[in-house]
Amino acid sequence: MGDKIDNKVLCKLCKDDCLKKCFDDYVELIKEPKYVCKKCGRTAHKEKNLCKPVKIKK
Ligand SMILES: [Zn+2]
Repeated sequence: MGDKIDNKVLCKLCKDDCLKKCFDDYVELIKEPKYVCKKCGRTAHKEKNLCKPVKIKK
């Protein structure tokens, strides 16, 4: 175990059933979101965690 999720695409986590295991890490990644996924509508702080990231304009 010890599966780090900070390099994973969050959009795929449900399929991997990783979200429950890594929930605390997940919350860290979605705090203060800067990007939104154009495909799934998820948000994340880092571009690499989304499959179709688009920068959120403030
Ligand atoms: Zn996505």
